Parts: sequence; C-alpha cells; structure tokens
Amino acid sequence: MKLYNTLDRKKETFSPITQNEVKLYTCGATVYNYAHIGNLRTYVFEDILKRTLLFNGYKVKHVMNITDVGHLTSDADEGEDKMLKGAKREKKTVWQIADFYTKAFQNDIKKLNIQDPNIWCKATDHIKEQVEMIEALEKKGFTYTAGGNVYFNTGKFKDYGKLAKLNLKAEKQARIEKDKNKKNSHDFVLWFTKSKFQDQEMKWDSKYGRGFPGWHIECSAMATKYLGKQFDIHCGGIDHIPVHHTNEIAQSEAALGVKPWVHYWLHGEFLVLNEQKMSKSSGEFLTLQKVIEKGYDPLAYRYFCLGTHYRKPLMFSWEAMDSAQNALKKLQNKVLELKEKPNEGKNNTEKYIEDFQGAINDDLNMPQALAAVWDMLKDEKVNNKNKYETLLQFDKVLGLGLDRIKKIKIPEEVQILIEKREDARLKKSWKEADQMRDKLKALGYSIEDTSSGPLIKKVQ
Ligand code: AMP
Ligand code: ZN
Repeated sequence: MKLYNTLDRKKETFSPITQNEVKLYTCGATVYNYAHIGNLRTYVFEDILKRTLLFNGYKVKHVMNITDVGHLTSDADEGEDKMLKGAKREKKTVWQIADFYTKAFQNDIKKLNIQDPNIWCKATDHIKEQVEMIEALEKKGFTYTAGGNVYFNTGKFKDYGKLAKLNLKAEKQARIEKDKNKKNSHDFVLWFTKSKFQDQEMKWDSKYGRGFPGWHIECSAMATKYLGKQFDIHCGGIDHIPVHHTNEIAQSEAALGVKPWVHYWLHGEFLVLNEQKMSKSSGEFLTLQKVIEKGYDPLAYRYFCLGTHYRKPLMFSWEAMDSAQNALKKLQNKVLELKEKPNEGKNNTEKYIEDFQGAINDDLNMPQALAAVWDMLKDEKVNNKNKYETLLQFDKVLGLGLDRIKKIKIPEEVQILIEKREDARLKKSWKEADQMRDKLKALGYSIEDTSSGPLIKKVQ
C-alpha cells in the first residue's frame, strides 16, 4: 500500500511500526460553529484512509480530538478565541457552545457514514497531560515566559519547519511581528495567562498561573497519551501543514526526545467554492444540513468527495452534487437489481477486485476505484450474485451504505398515490402531480423520477 507522505513529498510504501497494527491520529473539529462541508471533506478522506487500512487487514487504533479551548481565530496565536467568539454570537457559555457543536459534528459524521474513532478526546478533559508536556519542555530548555504567557522557543529546535519546508531566514526579514513577546517569529504559545480575553471562562490553575493551553499542545499531549511516544499516521487538511502540524512536531519531538514522532503525515486538499477555500470565518459557508434541506442524500456528498483525489482541490457546485446524487441512486438501484434478479454468468470478479485494490492502495485513488466498480457492474459476463457480493466488499471502503439498501414494502394507499401521480405526470398535470408528491411526503415517502421509473424511498 502506497501513501503520499508530506514529510518527504512523495508516495511511500506504508509499513507500520507494529506489524499489522496502525496507530492513527486525526485532528478533529474546533467546536465553535457547525462544521462546513469543506471540513467534512477532510473527515471523509480520513475515513477512506482508515477503511482502506482495515480492508488491507490492519487493526487500526484511531484517535480524534475535539478542540474546545485555545484555538484563536488566527492559527498563529493572534485574534480572538474561537470558542469565546461562538459564545458571544449565541449569548451562551463556552461550555454550552462546545457541547452543542460537538454533538452537531458527531451527528454530521454519522450521516456521512464516517466510522467513529476508537477514542474521542476533548482538549478540556486533558489539561493535566498538556501541562505535563509543557513542564517536560521547560525542563529541557525549550520554553520561555514573556508577558505572562509560556512560549515554545522555535530557535532551540533544530529542524523547525521541516514539514512545511519553511524558509526561516527569508521569513525573518519579511515578517513584521505583532506579538512583541516572541523571541522568534514562529514561536507559539503553550500556556496563556495574560490573555486579552479576560472574560475567558475556561481557565485552570497550573504552575504557570491560572490560564488555558495554546491550541497545538492538545494534539501532542492526547496523541502521546493514547498512541504512545511514536505512531504511524497523522492527518488533517493542508492548512495544518505550516503552523499546527509544524508546531505539533516541534514540541512533541522536543518533549519526548524521539524522531520522527510520526512516520507518515497525510493532508487533504481544500473544498473550493466560487474560487475560494470554504472557510468558517469568511465567504459562503455550507453545512451538511443545508445540503440535506436542498433535497440531497448526505451520502451523495460522500460520493461527490470520492470523485476527486484527496490531494486535488475539489470545486463545489450544485450541478456536481446533482451528478453525484444521480450516480448514487443508480448504484442503489443496481444493488436492488443484483439482489433480486439472479442470473446466469460466471463468478468472475477477480480482475475488478485487483483493479479496485490497486486503486485504493495507490494513495487512495478513489476516482479510479469508482471506475473499477462501474466497470464490474457493466460486465454482463459476471453473474449478479457474484457482483453483489463483490460490491458489498468494495463498499467496506466506499462507505456508501450499500449493505443497507432494501426494497421497501409499499402500503396500498401509497401505491395508489404513486400511480395517480404517474398518470398526472403523463398528462402533464404538474400541479396535480405535485399535490400527490406532497401527500406522499406527508405519509413519509419521497419520490423521484429516474430513467427506470419513479424511485420511492422511506424518509427517515
Ligand atoms: P477546524 O474545525 O477549523 O479545526 O478544521 C477541521 C478540519 O477541516 C481540519 O483538518 C482543516 O484542515 C480542514 N479544513 C478546513 N477548511 C477546509 C476546506 N475548505 N476544505 C477541506 N478541509 C478543510
Ligand atoms: Zn491537531
């Protein structure tokens, strides 16, 4: 299995530290608002990675954090505390905001059929571990205190910026420093005590004073607690390369005395809307709920994500969502057909299994994997039972919920409405047809017109 490692900027053959077992850490949501579908693209990519590892027979221990403290609006420790921003916006406490948006995030994940991590961990539940790591850094001489805050001294860490290939010398000349306390421009806060946000509700006592941790230290402390001093894979979106992951590496390798702390770093490209990176702080921001309200199956968004390689930008459009929804429906209908119509033909899916496996193991090439799926479905020499079983195997990686597709038993009154609507449609009585659709909806059924006739679904 090959994966593109940001550390070396090349595809490498994957080999875990412990045979057959993979330790995986993925940076989770900052819970001050709903996740947008750009964030969710990153979690879909990470889910595909995890499912591919499982498909290859590895055991996977997956940890995902929830950032509920310390993340300022600029990743470089400037701006406003994101949680506080959310609390002010909604006139609630930061704790209420964290609780509400954590649940909303976990709900979105479920709708996208993203598997839960083995361990969910919140930054605020791990203050002790974070302070201990800061103490270890202090003992080794990597910290200094200025203006009441504790900083990581990047000047003391030899390989600082290696992941992002930062040119520190050039930057030193160009950068105008906003935080006058910093000794080097890339230094970052490990512990805030003198925050400009005196109304910050999340505060803890520590030997450095009453305050709260900086953003980066949470991931290092929690990953170490649950995955050990070194582990296999760490992921996030590409925006994490220059600051968050760069800082995680510096503080972890400095505190733990290991190198490399993580063997493979994988990063997902952005979802782009109107030529702009989708972002919570600027521009248009689409949630999964909005996509559902527009009439799309959340799994159509998952299918849409699979259509582009995770290392390429993905342009969002409603037209592209229509195509994804149609393709997903076609696939769902195909599942019913394969299940219900046994036929003659050979057990002959080996070639497609090879193609599919080759694609997913080539740095998660999902567009190519989908092509192998459709090639198999079109092959008339293979019998339906064999196709169906193979498709369900593929779906262990695709995660499109194809094992849950069932033909529904339709009550008589619903059947009558469907027929009446078909009649109205054929007579081009659109108003009447729409009325029937509304009646069906009230009874808990949705109806869509496909090339093979109307498709009825029970609305959950
Ligand atoms: P946050 O909740 O801001 O910490 O971000 C959660 C995840 O979404 C991180 O891994 C980010 O790198 C990622 N992310 C942020 N914006 C986008 C985007 N437009 N497209 C894809 N991933 C993104
Ligand atoms: Zn992180």
